[in-house]
Amino acid sequence: MAAETSTVVSNTGNLLKYMNLDQRGRVQAEYVWIDANGGTRSKTKTLSKPVTSVDELPEWNFDGSSTSQAPGDNSDVYLRPVAFYPDPFRQGDNILVLCETWDADGSPNKYNYRHDAARLMETNAHEGFWFGLEQEYTLLGTDGWPYGWPRGGFPGAQGPYYCGVGTGKVYCRDIVEAHYRACLYAGINISGINAEVMPSQWEYQVGPCEGIEMGDHLWMSRFLLHRVAEEFGVRISFEPKPIKGEWNGAGLHSNVSTHATRAEGGMKAIEAAMKKLEARHVEHIAVYGEGNEERLTGRHETGNIDKFSYGVADRGGSIRIPRQCAKDGKGYFEDRRPASNADPYQITGIIVETMCGGL
Ligand code: ADP
Ligand code: MN
Ligand code: MN
Ligand code: MN
Ligand code: MN
Repeated sequence: MAAETSTVVSNTGNLLKYMNLDQRGRVQAEYVWIDANGGTRSKTKTLSKPVTSVDELPEWNFDGSSTSQAPGDNSDVYLRPVAFYPDPFRQGDNILVLCETWDADGSPNKYNYRHDAARLMETNAHEGFWFGLEQEYTLLGTDGWPYGWPRGGFPGAQGPYYCGVGTGKVYCRDIVEAHYRACLYAGINISGINAEVMPSQWEYQVGPCEGIEMGDHLWMSRFLLHRVAEEFGVRISFEPKPIKGEWNGAGLHSNVSTHATRAEGGMKAIEAAMKKLEARHVEHIAVYGEGNEERLTGRHETGNIDKFSYGVADRGGSIRIPRQCAKDGKGYFEDRRPASNADPYQITGIIVETMCGGL
């Protein structure tokens, strides 16, 4: 695919020669963290030998004043490794290291949403929470307009694009395939992909994952998506409503189950959860993504942002109970409210807190 770009796209053929050079037993560890704007940042550290456990990874730091995560006069933010994954780019013993961010005074950084979520997951581990997130996103050219759309114009109306096959119906399959394989290589629990209703919009699913692993795997999958798309000269947008009007927005449907909902007669536990979620609708919306009001209009397969509702097989409500679960009398529910740019630690955290109580 030819990237429409004025910037230099890396010459991967030439790079390969260097990537095949012996690295003499040393390991490249790409430390990845979440910044103040829901983006990912990373930098590399050379380690003297391969790593087998997260405890072997040294703490590190970065200049938080350059990422709006700390003031200039006290700018060091610490990176604490919490998980690591095989690196699909450098391969071999090289790794990607997911980190929490910590301030110099020993408290979690303002944008470290993982810390509280991990404590909630730990406290409620016996409940057996499983999550499955459906990450929707849009691919943009370097001009900021959806990739493959006529410059400054629009493609034909929605209809042929969802799960589309064929020229003019689907865009950027190469990036999507590359990302899918990169996730599998890294051990991310990616469970599928599909082209979305709006052209140049796609979805991938991660899960089911237990507890804190949901946020960890989703964040690493987002890093991988940005990183893969960078090589193709294409931008990734997690905007909830990238194009106004009759074009679907992008969500992060969050599927949830527990020991109780999965057990015989689990529908009772799902009903009980609905009551609890309804009572805290406003608090959930507050952490379900910025700009979500443009998406949750009650149209384009969404519920209205001001009103909690749920139903079996209802794609126009806040929560959908899958038809099969209603039939089986047990299973999971789908919270359709979160926007594509929401933080999975905040989503899964508030769901656990709502269903089981706070710390
Ligand atoms: P949709 O029909 O809403 O598009 P998808 O197939 O895209 O559904 O996504 C379904 C998601 O539900 C997947 O991420 C999957 O991992 C998740 N899921 C399936 N079973 C469970 C369960 N018991 N608990 C939590 N999540 C589940
Ligand atoms: Mn420097
Ligand atoms: Mn889906
Ligand atoms: Mn979808
Ligand atoms: Mn869904």
